[in-house]
Amino acid sequence: MKKVVIVGANHAGTAATNTILDNSKEHQVTVFDANSNISFLGCGMALWIGNQIDGPEGLFYSNKETLESKGAKVYMETPVERIDFQNKVVYAKTKSGEMIQAEYDDLILATGSLPIVPKLEGGDLENVQKVKLYQHAEVVIDKLKDPSIKDVVVVGAGYIGVELAEAFQRHGKAVTLIDIAQTSLPAYYDAPFTALMNENLSQNGIKLAFGETVQKLEGHGKVERVITDKATHNADMVVLAIGFRPNTELGSNFLTTFKNGAYLVDKRQRTSAQGVYAIGDCATVYDNSLDRPSYIALATNAVRSAIVAAHNVLGTPLESAGVQGSNGIAIYDLKMVSTGVTAERAALLGLDVDYTDIEDYQKPEFIKEHNEKVKLRIVYDKKTRVILGAQMASKHDMSMGIHLFSLAIQEKVTIDKLALTDLFFLPHFNKPYNYVTVAALGAK
Ligand SMILES: Cc1cc2nc3c(=O)[nH]c(=O)nc-3n(C[C@H](O)[C@H](O)[C@H](O)COP(=O)(O)OP(=O)(O)OC[C@H]3O[C@@H](n4cnc5c(N)ncnc54)[C@H](O)[C@@H]3O)c2cc1C
Repeated sequence: MKKVVIVGANHAGTAATNTILDNSKEHQVTVFDANSNISFLGCGMALWIGNQIDGPEGLFYSNKETLESKGAKVYMETPVERIDFQNKVVYAKTKSGEMIQAEYDDLILATGSLPIVPKLEGGDLENVQKVKLYQHAEVVIDKLKDPSIKDVVVVGAGYIGVELAEAFQRHGKAVTLIDIAQTSLPAYYDAPFTALMNENLSQNGIKLAFGETVQKLEGHGKVERVITDKATHNADMVVLAIGFRPNTELGSNFLTTFKNGAYLVDKRQRTSAQGVYAIGDCATVYDNSLDRPSYIALATNAVRSAIVAAHNVLGTPLESAGVQGSNGIAIYDLKMVSTGVTAERAALLGLDVDYTDIEDYQKPEFIKEHNEKVKLRIVYDKKTRVILGAQMASKHDMSMGIHLFSLAIQEKVTIDKLALTDLFFLPHFNKPYNYVTVAALGAK
């Protein structure tokens, strides 16, 4: 029996446990998690807060019992406190204070990420909230029942902050969305797309405070105001959504780390120590659009990296195909999806790119029902013409289209090859000259 220890049992740890135990009876898997629940879909948090789903029950897809029914030994509420990488032993402490030692042949680190909490004056006032765990959402939802909480300030206009702003507005709160950047979603979209989202947020009553830096929070016991370099915003609750950092305290002294502290892994999820793998939000990914390691914290990456690590533990070697950071967001009736690098980010990184834009109806104009315009930008390398990114926006669900671009980036397809790719036509779905082909043909 080969001993495998997995530290962290959320999306990455659960996927690794399942993959190993679904494929082998020769592996003894011991799993530790500090939390009391596993597999919480954070992506559903805003829907839950905004009362768009019945409750949180459907936001879990696994638990200790399910993993144990497959043969794992699972310790919940048992943080791993120390790892002896030389002697291959993990030390954890149960809720009742009992120390557990687990030896391993292979170790999988799946300790995820932690919300970035800036050191702010007033940061410890009541009603200043973080959002990551199920428990965080529970607290926020409970506080929203208090009618004296009228003004909610969300700090950070990345996809989580934007989703939460909508959720609080749907709750009838007066919402202010603050970001140091001049726009929402700057990491994923260029200005023509972020402008659509910003207008969408404003039209739905969310006050946008972009280009502002939070300096301090003020209040008496409870938070009352957010002071930025430009304005003062009333706040009965402040939600910090400024990003996540890899949770790598356990191994950062021993293992090689990336510039943001994530465990640096190769395409087999191997760290710098033999027999030690890192997966999910605590590890780097290989970014195909930049052709180098990067850090992109997404549940999709967590699950895929887990499958890769599990196969390498099983002795059925597998390499990651790399990632493009494909992502999507749906706010009110605006849907946006993107993959790879934006033109603005490429310029910041010194990449020589060009792009081709189009905005057209999804289907021929004679189709009157469910026929919305789609806005598309394809970013490509000027010299090699290899596709490096794409962004799409519509009121219609065109999300599946982005997968084509994700695969194109992964497989280093040129814009010219895409222009001649066999894309079918049927008026129920698209136009004879569909927007992907027309945009690709329009590349300079
Ligand atoms: C509000 C929100 C919305 C999101 N929406 C999306 C989305 O729409 N799409 C998407 O792809 N991603 C989304 N994400 C990101 C996604 O949730 C993360 O990428 C994903 O949770 C990463 O999974 P993970 O298992 O690597 O890490 P985590 O989810 O961070 O889990 C790590 C686990 O390790 C445990 N742990 C940590 N340290 C120890 C220790 N010392 N001992 C034992 N256990 C330990 C923790 O208790 C935790 O259970 C969202 C995140 C949030 C917060």
